[in-house]
Amino acid sequence: MQTNRQPPTSSTDPRFTPLWTPEQIANRVADIARKIDHDYASNPPVLVGALKGSFIFLADLVRQMKLPAEIEFMRLSSYNAGTESSGHVRVAWGPSVEAIKDRPVIVVEDIVDTGLTTSTALGHLRRKRPASLRVCTLLDRPERRTTKLTVDYVGFTFSGRFVVGYGLDLDQRYRGLPGIYGLEDDREN
Ligand code: 5GP
Repeated sequence: MQTNRQPPTSSTDPRFTPLWTPEQIANRVADIARKIDHDYASNPPVLVGALKGSFIFLADLVRQMKLPAEIEFMRLSSYNAGTESSGHVRVAWGPSVEAIKDRPVIVVEDIVDTGLTTSTALGHLRRKRPASLRVCTLLDRPERRTTKLTVDYVGFTFSGRFVVGYGLDLDQRYRGLPGIYGLEDDREN
């Protein structure tokens, strides 16, 4: 039986290559948590998770942090279906002004690819006047960037393949996989 905690079809499916194990991910998340604890020791941040992909990363990150961070979410959409971006990013909803005004804010992303989603999120949040605004992402694929963007905390930098697992989906599937898998690349990079 295939469960949520097994690789997509079977462990021998050649389309899915294991990229990072749950242990490797946990170690990087702990590193990032330590850095954020250090950087925000005097003023704990508000972590704004970009849904849906960041939900597992954010949950693990906040549990590794010692600081009492506050949690908010925002909902953006950039991918229509499959592995190709629609090129349009929309903010469906985000935190209230009261939640982030004059507070240090960190946007928590699953992956920064072209950077359009993160740039849109930053623009939306900036209008609500946070004291500071930074970006934390589990995965960074800088070669695909089409927007100028500073990413402050990064789990893993990589190139190429579309990835699934640990919150990341393909057509809403595979988010529950504890590791991260690369799909065979069937697109131009
Ligand atoms: P960007 O706007 O930076 O191009 O894309 C960011 C969003 O696209 C991510 O939050 C994620 O939802 C989706 N995305 C980009 N690359 C991948 C990928 O390799 N795998 C998955 N599952 N989603 C991706």
